Amino acid sequence: MAWRMLRRKELHTGLVNLAFRTDHGGAKHFSNGTVRKLAQFYRSDRPKYGASCMRSNHFTIRNFHAGVYMLAWSRKREDVVGLKAPKKEKRVKRENRTQPPVEAPYVAPKPKIATKLPDKTVEIFDGMTLLDLSKRTGAYISTLQGILADLGEKVESEFDSISIDLAELVAMEIGVNTRRMHTGEGMNEPRPAVVTVMGHVDHGKTSLLDALRQTSVAAKEAGGITQHIGAFVVEMPSGASITFLDTPGHAAFSAMRARGAAVTDIVVLVVAADDGVMPQTLEAMSHAKSANVPVVVAINKCDKPGADPERVRIQLGSEGLLLEDMGGDVQVVEISAVAKSGLDKLEEALLLQAEMMDLKARIDGPAQAFVVEARVDRGRGPLATAIVKSGTLASGQHIVVGAEWGRIRSLRDTAGQTTESAKPAIPVEIEGLRGLPMAGDDVVVVDSEERARMLSQGRKKKQEKDRLQKIDEGMADELEVNEETPERVEMPIIVKADVQGSVQAVTDALRSLNSAQVFVNVVHVGVGPISQHDIDLAQACGAYIVGFNIRSPPIAITQEAARANIKVFLHKVIYHLLEEMGRAIVEKAPGTAETKVSGEAEVLNIFELKGRSKSKGPDIKIAGCRITDGHFSKSGTMRLLRSGDVVFEGPCASLKREKQDAETIEKGNDCGLVIQDCDDFQVGDIIQCLEQVIRKPKFISTQSGSVRIEC
Ligand code: GDP
Repeated sequence: MAWRMLRRKELHTGLVNLAFRTDHGGAKHFSNGTVRKLAQFYRSDRPKYGASCMRSNHFTIRNFHAGVYMLAWSRKREDVVGLKAPKKEKRVKRENRTQPPVEAPYVAPKPKIATKLPDKTVEIFDGMTLLDLSKRTGAYISTLQGILADLGEKVESEFDSISIDLAELVAMEIGVNTRRMHTGEGMNEPRPAVVTVMGHVDHGKTSLLDALRQTSVAAKEAGGITQHIGAFVVEMPSGASITFLDTPGHAAFSAMRARGAAVTDIVVLVVAADDGVMPQTLEAMSHAKSANVPVVVAINKCDKPGADPERVRIQLGSEGLLLEDMGGDVQVVEISAVAKSGLDKLEEALLLQAEMMDLKARIDGPAQAFVVEARVDRGRGPLATAIVKSGTLASGQHIVVGAEWGRIRSLRDTAGQTTESAKPAIPVEIEGLRGLPMAGDDVVVVDSEERARMLSQGRKKKQEKDRLQKIDEGMADELEVNEETPERVEMPIIVKADVQGSVQAVTDALRSLNSAQVFVNVVHVGVGPISQHDIDLAQACGAYIVGFNIRSPPIAITQEAARANIKVFLHKVIYHLLEEMGRAIVEKAPGTAETKVSGEAEVLNIFELKGRSKSKGPDIKIAGCRITDGHFSKSGTMRLLRSGDVVFEGPCASLKREKQDAETIEKGNDCGLVIQDCDDFQVGDIIQCLEQVIRKPKFISTQSGSVRIEC
C-alpha cells in the first residue's frame, strides 16, 4: 500500500486501514521511515488525535487503535471494527423553574375573513353622460367605454349621454348597485293615494279591507265579486278614488320598504275599540313613523257593547300620536267593519289626507312601477300585480321586473277587465312575464326584447353574486358564533304561502327567529298549497313545513306528512305563526348547561360509622342535616361551606331519610348525608346541593310586537 494513496484519502480512513493491518500483523509491512512519516503527518494535521502518540518516542502501531474508537463513534456503527461505540447521551436541559408551567388555553387561529367593502349604490338616470357615470361609480372612462363596447354600444366622448338601461348594465358589470332616478319631466297630474291597513292581530284589518272592497264600484258592478290581485281601488261618488293594498300587516309593509318599494302614501291604523292599543298597534305606529307615512286611525268594532273609543284615543295620545281631537293632525274615525258603519267617513278622511299631501305624478312617458304581489296561474303563467308610481304602463311594452323580463301580453284591472294601459296609483295585473318576480320588485320599461333580456341576465348575475356573498358572510358569522357556542342545530323550513308577497314576508319573519342555538334555514319557498314534492323534500332534509294563508292540504298529503313525522304549521296570522314556530325552535334548541343551587341544608349533627372492614372501605362520617331551602338530590354535587367559604365539593355518596335511601328530599326534612372522600364536617356547616340544569332559550315577544329568541 502506497503512502501517497493514504494521504490522498481521509487520514482517518488511512488509520483504520492501518489498524486492521496491525491487528493482523500488517505492521511488519511498514518500514520505520513510513511510520515516522505517518506520525509526522498526523502530528501536523491532526494534533489533537495524535498528541498522545507523538509525545512518546515509542511510536507503535498500537497507538492508532484510538482512531478505531473514534471512527466507530463518528460513524455511529459498532460493526466497523467489531467494537462497541460509546453511546451518545442526549443532552437534557436542567429544569430550574420553581413555578409549575402555566397552561395557556389553546386559541385556534381565526380564519382570515375578507373584510367586506360596503355596498355602493349609485343613482342613475336617463340621458346621463359617461362622465357622470364615471364620477358616481369611480370607474375610469376607458373602463366604462370598454364595457359599453362589449355590450355592442360605441360611446366616443365622455360627454355623450347614455340610456338609463345602459347605465344600469354598465354599473352592474362594475359591481355597484343602482337606484333609478326618474325625471319628473312631463305633465304632473293628481293621482289617487295608495293606502296600507295595519294594526294588531284580530283588530279587524281583513274585515275592514273586505268591507271596503265591497264598497268599490267595480265590486258593485260585478255583484260584489272582485279579483284578489293584491290591491283594489275604491271609487267615490265624487269621482275621486283610493287604492288599498290588500295584504294587511307589517311584515309585508316592511318587506316592501326593505326592497325600496315605497308605494304606501297613507297608513290606516286599525285599533279595536274593545281591546285598545296592543303591541302590534305600537309596532304599526313605529313602522309608519320610520317610513314617514301619515296615519289615519280607524277605531274598529264600535258596534260591540264593550267598545270604548275614548279610551283608545287616550291610549294613542299617550303613545305620542297627535290626534286631531287633541289639537294634532292625525284624523280618527270610529267604524265597524262588520256592521259596515263609518266606512264613508274613513274614506273621506283618507281623501282629505291625500288632498293635504297634494299627491301628483307624471302621467306620460315610460312607467315606473312596483310589484305588490305575484303568483303563478296554471293557464296564464306568472302574474304580477303592480302599482304604477309614474308614467303609464301599456300593453305590448317590454319590461324588466326585478330579475325577470317579459313583454306585457295583457293588463287587467281589479275587476278582472283587460285594459290597454295603467296610470299612476292604479293596480294592474301583468301577464306575459317569463318568470315569477317578488313583491317589492321594480318594473322597468325598456326599448327592446334584447335590452330586456340583457338587463334581466345582468340582474340575475348580480343577485347570484350577492347571494353567494351573503352565504360567505353567513359562514363567517357561523364561524364566529361557533367559537362561543359550539352546539347550534339547524332547523330546515319549507315556506308555502298564498302569494309571493306573503312568502317573502313569512320568510323574512322566520329568519328573524335565528339564534345562536338554532339556525333557521329556509330551504324552499313556494306559492300555492302543500304538495307531494314539499313532503318529499321535507322528508329528505328533515324540514318543517310552514303554510301561510293557504288552504288545508288534501287528506292524502296530511296523512303522508303524519306518516313521515313531518311537522306542518298552518296559519293565517303571521303573529300566531311566529309564536308557534318560536315554541318549536325553543324545543329544538340544545340549551345551555348550567349549575344551579337546588337546595341548602345545615349540619346539625355528625355521626361516625366505625368498625368497617378493610374490604368495605375506611370509616365514614355522616352529616346529619336539616334541609332549609329547596331540595337535595342524590345525583347532585355537594358543596360544603364554613363561614361562607367553600371547604369541600364532591359527589353525594349517600342520601338517607329516616335510615332509608332517598333520591330527593324536600325542604324542612332531616337527612343523613355522606359526601364522597369528605370527613371534615362540623356542626353549623352549610351544605349546598348543586344540580346541572339545561337552560333553554326564551321566545320573547316585545311590547312593540317584534319577536326574537334569546339564548
Ligand atoms: P285581523 O287579524 O286584524 O285581520 O282581524 P280580522 O279581520 O280577521 O277580524 C278578527 C275578528 O274580529 C273576526 O272574527 C271578525 O269577525 C271580528 N271583527 C272585525 N271587525 C269587527 C267589527 O267591526 N265588529 C265586530 N263585532 N267584530 C269585528
